[in-house]
Amino acid sequence: MAYSYEAPVSQSLFDRASVVTPGGVNSPVRAFRAVGGTPRFMVSGTGPYLTDADGREYVDLVCSWGPMILGHSHPEVIAAVQEAVSRGTSFGTPGEGEVALAEEIVARIEPVEQVRLVSSGTEATMSAIRLARGFTGRAKVVKFAGCYHGHVDALLAAAGSGLATFGLPDTPGVTGATAGDTVVLPYNDLDAVRAAFAAHPGEIACVITEASPGNMGVVPPADGFNAGLKELCAADGALYISDEVMTGFRTSKAGWYGIDGVRADLMTFGKVMGGGFPAAAFGGRADVMAHLAPAGPVYQAGTLSGNPVATAAGLAQLRLLDDAAYAKIDAVSAELRSLVGDAFTKEGVAHTVSSASNMFSVFFTDQPVRNYDDAKKQEAFRFTAFFHSMLEQGVYLPPSAFESWFVSTAHDERAIERIAAALPAAARAASEATA
Ligand code: PLP
Repeated sequence: MAYSYEAPVSQSLFDRASVVTPGGVNSPVRAFRAVGGTPRFMVSGTGPYLTDADGREYVDLVCSWGPMILGHSHPEVIAAVQEAVSRGTSFGTPGEGEVALAEEIVARIEPVEQVRLVSSGTEATMSAIRLARGFTGRAKVVKFAGCYHGHVDALLAAAGSGLATFGLPDTPGVTGATAGDTVVLPYNDLDAVRAAFAAHPGEIACVITEASPGNMGVVPPADGFNAGLKELCAADGALYISDEVMTGFRTSKAGWYGIDGVRADLMTFGKVMGGGFPAAAFGGRADVMAHLAPAGPVYQAGTLSGNPVATAAGLAQLRLLDDAAYAKIDAVSAELRSLVGDAFTKEGVAHTVSSASNMFSVFFTDQPVRNYDDAKKQEAFRFTAFFHSMLEQGVYLPPSAFESWFVSTAHDERAIERIAAALPAAARAASEATA
């Protein structure tokens, strides 16, 4: 595909980056490999806008893959960060900020009685699984195809996100022994979970699921699916782990738990709770968390866990996320979903705008998408044309047909109008695209 617009400064930065960094990026999903072209190197962000190194401004529908729920450079978050930085950046001792952040999480999410702070979503899920195995004395982990839980060895089987984008079934470097304890099942299929428990009675430590998946595109759980998982786990003595790294503090004040009310034994968080800094967490039942060092024998640690700058940013962001903020984000999402759907309908493009609360994505199919196999059947080549047209017109989408779009409280009428103005040509480009 030829691109009619150029990004010379981004291109030269990408050339430099490609010499010193594999693929020129520090996280695969940032590369434009699935859509082609040069990744944009961003230099600043304000509200709903990003500015790249060539001086072009974009309406941002990635929001740093979720964290920037108040938009970029929110003055109160920046002020909290500046105040924290002025007192020092890391002490390697306990500090009040991490207590306050943990209290905020525990206050918002009722099943979370205790929480441990870490630095990334990957660390959170990795640690939650270790704890589940330590607590139950069992080895096997059940996960669902298309769900992404970070780049944890045991969870990289049939994972979503970058693996979905690049069509990788799994990854070299994960040994058979590690993957052998992972049971991968189709999403939204309780019968498959029942069968797995029947095949491995007393061997499954935990079932981990995205509370509402956003890493194969947005594929919400069918009615009763999460509750059914919880029930099957409880009946067998396995733990139910709800991964809310993406949905946590985004889909409602209490994340997806605030929507479906299914009490997980353990939950994982990241993204929004870090306010744009590396902060994440896992938590849940106090009797399970009591097995974690130094209270218990399951080891877990981190030099920068509970970092004072990260916790200040996260706490400031969470405190600003009141009912009015969620009402705003939900309204922006609803307006965009309808604009996007109308644009494709006008151009006769088969599509489904799939949403879970304010998270949404487009599948280029009019067939129902209930799991990863369904998601893969879409005409993803149409996304490539759509993506580049939007980019050219100043709208920054995730560079993959298998990722959620994210909005923020900062997406105002002006930003929405810019998206609305870009949609007709982009939908036309999608309709004219060929495989
Ligand atoms: N879990 C889910 C549901 C995610 O979406 C992600 C990242 O996208 C992770 C875990 C891993 O988080 P991190 O990228 O912070 O390691």
